[in-house]
Amino acid sequence: MEKFDVTIIGGGPGGYVAAIRCAQLGMKTALIEKYPSLGGTCLNVGCIPSKALLDSSEHYYNAVHHFEEHGIDIKAPKVNIKQMIERKRGVVKMTVEGINFLMKKNKITVYTGFGSFENKTTIQIKKDDGTIEKIESAKTIIATGSKPSSLPGIDIDKKRVITSTEALELTEVPKHLIIIGGGVIGLELGSVYGRLGSKVTVVEFMDRIIAGMDGSLSKELQRVLKKNLSFEFLFKHKVTGTKATAKEVTVTALNAKDETVEIKGDYCLVAVGRKPYTENLGLENAGVKLDNRGRIETDNHLKTNVDNIYAIGDVVKGAMLAHKAEEEGVFVAEQLAGQKPHIDYNLIPGVVYTWPEVAAVGLTEEQLKEQGKKYKVGSFPFKASGRARASMDTDGFVKVLADEVTDEILGVHMIGPRTADMIAEAVIAMEYKASAEDISRMSHAHPTFTESMKEACLDATGKRALHI
Ligand code: FAD
Ligand code: NAD
Repeated sequence: MEKFDVTIIGGGPGGYVAAIRCAQLGMKTALIEKYPSLGGTCLNVGCIPSKALLDSSEHYYNAVHHFEEHGIDIKAPKVNIKQMIERKRGVVKMTVEGINFLMKKNKITVYTGFGSFENKTTIQIKKDDGTIEKIESAKTIIATGSKPSSLPGIDIDKKRVITSTEALELTEVPKHLIIIGGGVIGLELGSVYGRLGSKVTVVEFMDRIIAGMDGSLSKELQRVLKKNLSFEFLFKHKVTGTKATAKEVTVTALNAKDETVEIKGDYCLVAVGRKPYTENLGLENAGVKLDNRGRIETDNHLKTNVDNIYAIGDVVKGAMLAHKAEEEGVFVAEQLAGQKPHIDYNLIPGVVYTWPEVAAVGLTEEQLKEQGKKYKVGSFPFKASGRARASMDTDGFVKVLADEVTDEILGVHMIGPRTADMIAEAVIAMEYKASAEDISRMSHAHPTFTESMKEACLDATGKRALHI
């Protein structure tokens, strides 16, 4: 039996990054992935393909709605969904091949097959042809990720009632796409098809979209999605079931008055969250415990209740984000090498890749109120930014929350053009415990979208914004 210092089960962004860092630190490393293609949810059916389609659909939307105003006359553009999906596949293929290269470069042994514990140090790998190979590993990192959740009464047939995975492979643009769940997946994929011409109805249990984010971002995103893409929102609606025929789907829900409502469309995307994936891992053979939400239970060091077994990413508590999984992969690898790494979970940014983009880090106003913290608010609207006017991206704002006494930045909440990239400045500022005044005294290139961050900080430090 081949012996390893460390084995990682699951080749997503948590797993493959952990493997690279373990190998860099001199450990003999194995990575087990059940699919032939590495990269997990993120690279194959998540972050990368959804962003590829978001970019394509944004080009189409701009061609239809904005080119003429820019002085570009073209023939009325048409959607070629087959080509759009084909390009997306190409992007995924290229990205996944990059991971194969990184595995070879770092001399990581990759096993393709389903990994499970025989005991706490022996791992079985079941191949597609039914054969089983066993390896011995001193330490193991579980990075098996997550799968889409569903709801009682919903039959995901993968044809009319679909998850994000099928929504990334449609062969036609839906006429009416009903989305259950106004979270990140629903709004990103809803934007793709909304831009391509679908009517989009979002059925949401709560009274707002992206409910975990600062309320001001929910409000502005809802306004813009209604204005630009004619999204319809049904809030406080609890979905109770779906019924699909060959060409149509009916979604039933209970509204706030407890009345049954029916919505008819040609596709229904179920986007009500994801659940940790631990099936058939043989956790009982190793003695690894789950928590009360089915996630692998870990301590602050991401160690399970079994001494030599760790877990990271979507399969453990915390935000289900690729960069969180990656940080955790590096964190565990460095601990195994005797280092003392650190993750500040408060400073893991969250981004929604709609247009305008939504990005945030740190505490929301709702959280600050709940904690009884005294804070100041500084904000700056993109309509006052010269760069935003030049690109006609004037929806949204940057909002900075700073401690009322010390002026330390406690949270930054942005909605607007390229805020997914802009949020990095806020993360750095907060990592270094910057005050709003610190940022307001730093030069930001003109004209850039980032000047809005400086202006919001100026606004927080004594209402000194220069351009409002
Ligand atoms: P995964 O990426 O789920 O990887 C787990 C891997 O383990 C899989 O490849 C699986 O096949 C494998 N596996 C499971 N069990 C076994 C086993 N027993 N043996 C062998 N292999 C096994 N996050 C962002 O940060 N930004 C985004 O823009 C973003 N967009 C997303 C869009 C969509 C549509 C979706 C669905 C998700 C998106 N996410 C995004 C979330 C992101 O994909 C996840 O947070 C991330 O992939 C989690 O990484 P992971 O390594 O923990 O798990
Ligand atoms: P989510 O948790 O973001 O949103 C799910 C939504 O469904 C919530 O608003 C919830 O209130 C609603 N809901 C739940 N039950 C309902 C019901 N019965 N009827 C109506 N609405 C109901 O989950 P998601 O959008 O499925 O995304 C899953 C995970 O993937 C998230 O944790 C997210 O972090 C990750 N993801 C991240 C990105 C990104 O970083 N840009 C993109 C896509 C996905």
